[in-house]
Amino acid sequence: MAKGKTEARAWVDENYEDLRNVAREIWERPEVELEEEFASGLQANVLERAGFDVTRGLAGLPTAFVAEAGSGEPTIGILGEYDALPGLSQKVRAEEEPLEEGGAGHGCGHNLLGTAGVGAAIAVKRVLDAGTGSGTVRYYGCPAEETLLGKVLLAKDGAFDDLDAALTWHPMNTNAPWMAESLAMNSVQFNFEGTSAHASAAPERGRSALDAVELMNTGANYLREHVPDPVRLHYSIVERGGKPNIVPKEAAVWYYVRAPSRQRVESVTERLEKVAEGAATMTETTVETEYRAGCYDTLPNGVLGSTILENMQEIGEVGFSEEEYELARGLRRTVDDVEEAMSRQGVPDDIIETELHGTPVDEIYDEGEQFPASTDVGDVSWNVPLGQFTAAAWPIGVSAHSWQSTAASGSEIGYKAMRFASKVLASTAIDLFRDETILENATREFEAASEGSDYTSPLPEDFVSPT
Ligand SMILES: [Zn+2]
Repeated sequence: MAKGKTEARAWVDENYEDLRNVAREIWERPEVELEEEFASGLQANVLERAGFDVTRGLAGLPTAFVAEAGSGEPTIGILGEYDALPGLSQKVRAEEEPLEEGGAGHGCGHNLLGTAGVGAAIAVKRVLDAGTGSGTVRYYGCPAEETLLGKVLLAKDGAFDDLDAALTWHPMNTNAPWMAESLAMNSVQFNFEGTSAHASAAPERGRSALDAVELMNTGANYLREHVPDPVRLHYSIVERGGKPNIVPKEAAVWYYVRAPSRQRVESVTERLEKVAEGAATMTETTVETEYRAGCYDTLPNGVLGSTILENMQEIGEVGFSEEEYELARGLRRTVDDVEEAMSRQGVPDDIIETELHGTPVDEIYDEGEQFPASTDVGDVSWNVPLGQFTAAAWPIGVSAHSWQSTAASGSEIGYKAMRFASKVLASTAIDLFRDETILENATREFEAASEGSDYTSPLPEDFVSPT
């Protein structure tokens, strides 16, 4: 085992109580995207006290920050997140009961995600300070993952340009390298404007923006038949007019376009824009296209995936207690179609049969699989080689963005997963500092997979951040 890893893992164990408190405080005070003042401030303070140089506010995002320690090459980045989800407040128990009626909750476990990265960054700094390996370690505090904005804006601003590799993880159901590819996506709103009039007394004077939205959706549903598989289109009418006796002057519909590649997302978005223009022509209204977000698919890295797997196996058992298994059994009982949902992600049958995944996998199981969602981590993976894994913070069958995942993310199951993830992140970073061939091989793989293509932001040049 490379020198320094034992020390880093021991540091995480010795400081588990403190890290657990950080994750718990963030869980208890959930903040939705771009409002993460408490969480980002807390993590930045912890890193500053540990001797990191902290820059608060990046790319026009006040709740983004970067913390840096060490010097020289290589520069290894650890990505953290801390935003919560609206309406997912939940107590730590196996039946649905909000902590605060209608409140936000950490249903994606980002309270654990960011804190594990903070612990790993400090553990790595101590190893570098002791003279074992050399280079620069950075922790990126990335806000607004849930709206797919944070890392995309950071990437657009060049925050990852001088990085050699990035490491991250996500709370999930298993302890495994994450090699499945997530979907590229565009989030686009179409704002129609017409002419209002009395709907009964002078209908001939009115031009309905809502008619345009309805016709656009009809057009999009016909377009659906003629897009390549597995493109996904989904929409929501976000502005629809008021009373029926007034011809709606304004109406807006918000679309997501998802596909396995940026190229495909862009070509379908272009066709969707034609549908919008057609609807505007038919109704004699005007349409304005507003880009709300967009991201790349993820480019997994096999070299980093294997390094992560080796470290997971060295670390071994997560060490869940009987009480934690009991909570896991209770939560699992509340979800339907466990087998189907888990096997769709490529999780092996023997793991699906358990209630909680307490050991690392023997081998990578999701290479070449399609993860049916999008993440802004994708944009980082087209900038630098990315190592990503999941840790079992949630029982088997519990999905992200559910009350069950909020409960597990605030339980001892979640905190132990965070500790495990912190050790895996630190160990993998130390490998990259100690053995330059790993980084060389990872970079070679990245360059071949991205075919030397320059990263261009999915957001328009004049995109204004919503803060
Ligand atoms: Zn998430």
